[in-house]
Amino acid sequence: MIFDSKLPDVGTTIFTIMSKLASDFGAINLSQGFPGFKGDPKLMDLVYHYMNEGKNQYAPMSGVPVLRERLVSKTKKVHGVEYDSEKEVTIVSGATDAIFSAITAVVKPGAEVILLEPAYDSYAPGIILAGGIPVFVPLKLPDFSVDWQKVQEAITDKTRLIVVNTPHNPSGYMWTQDDLNQLALLIQNKEIYVVSDEVYEHITFDGRVHLSLMTHPVLKERTFICGSFGKTFHVTGWKIGFCFGPGELTKEFRKVHQFVTFSTATPLQYAIADYLEEENHYLNLPKFYQKKRDLFCEGLKSTDFQLTPAQGSFFQQVNYGHLSQESDMDLAVRMTKEIGIASIPISVFFKNKDDHKILRFCFAKEDEELIKAIEILQKTNIFK
Ligand code: PMP
Ligand code: GLN
Repeated sequence: MIFDSKLPDVGTTIFTIMSKLASDFGAINLSQGFPGFKGDPKLMDLVYHYMNEGKNQYAPMSGVPVLRERLVSKTKKVHGVEYDSEKEVTIVSGATDAIFSAITAVVKPGAEVILLEPAYDSYAPGIILAGGIPVFVPLKLPDFSVDWQKVQEAITDKTRLIVVNTPHNPSGYMWTQDDLNQLALLIQNKEIYVVSDEVYEHITFDGRVHLSLMTHPVLKERTFICGSFGKTFHVTGWKIGFCFGPGELTKEFRKVHQFVTFSTATPLQYAIADYLEEENHYLNLPKFYQKKRDLFCEGLKSTDFQLTPAQGSFFQQVNYGHLSQESDMDLAVRMTKEIGIASIPISVFFKNKDDHKILRFCFAKEDEELIKAIEILQKTNIFK
């Protein structure tokens, strides 16, 4: 029997492939995006505390009330925006769950969904599984800003959703107030919803402020804001995040989420609820990561790569098109094997694998590891 796949074009994710290759070749793994350092012991102690206290059974499907309430207070403090903790926020098993559930909740067969390319890998499969049609709109290179003319041209009567990601993976581009206004103008009189992937909301540089789509009144009433505690608290393996959305949308969102994971690990929710009480746990993130970004970019300056320091996220892209025409995939694999540094070729974020000769490095690593990687990159001529 030949299995008729629902996702014939999807294989194992590049993150799994490159992390495995890095491990097989003992390379420094700057590919998959995860912190190379331990999270805060205070947070671990809180989880241990709540496990011992017996908070080990199913949490409510929408998340434990205390976490929803504190998240709502934090959001009010940070963005000045109010949500109802009962009806407008759901705790989920990672932003991946939030994105998938939101897409599934609004996309009907035949609906078109606009994706801005390069796009994070989980968006298109979710749309296809829901019977929707991803419509790809390229971002403008070299800065990966949004081409609003192209977005406007891509909107049809069938458009039901647009997926936004700011700060952007892989480029680090951060949406401006003008971007928010442009999107609002384009969709305000249409039945078009938005999934806004804001997992890097607290990782921003050079004094930039993350502009959540929730801060725009027109966007707030039609947007699912997806976030990840994994990114913010250096615990990506915990797979815990959240989704904000207006009551009607959240109602539909929860209909899906309850059958994807039902609920999310209980002791983690109580621990994070307490940890959120200290605002420095998230407000210090820009400073913490800026040092790493600067260390990494400074070191890369004395290599042959070309780069513009990332505005946000924990990724740094580098260009090498002026040095070689080798494909980014071949180069990423070869660098892992030959010089022991793993990266992500950004062609994987494009439907047609467009090769712009750009690699993505994750700098959420211990300084020693970053310095080691820089030393290798400085002393080896990969293109000899
Ligand atoms: N969106 C983007 C842009 C990401 O980089 C990631 C990766 N970690 C996710 C979503 C998924 O987040 P989570 O691990 O919380 O599911
Ligand atoms: N978001 C991470 C990245 O871009 C990977 C997460 C995953 O492996 N699914 O590297």
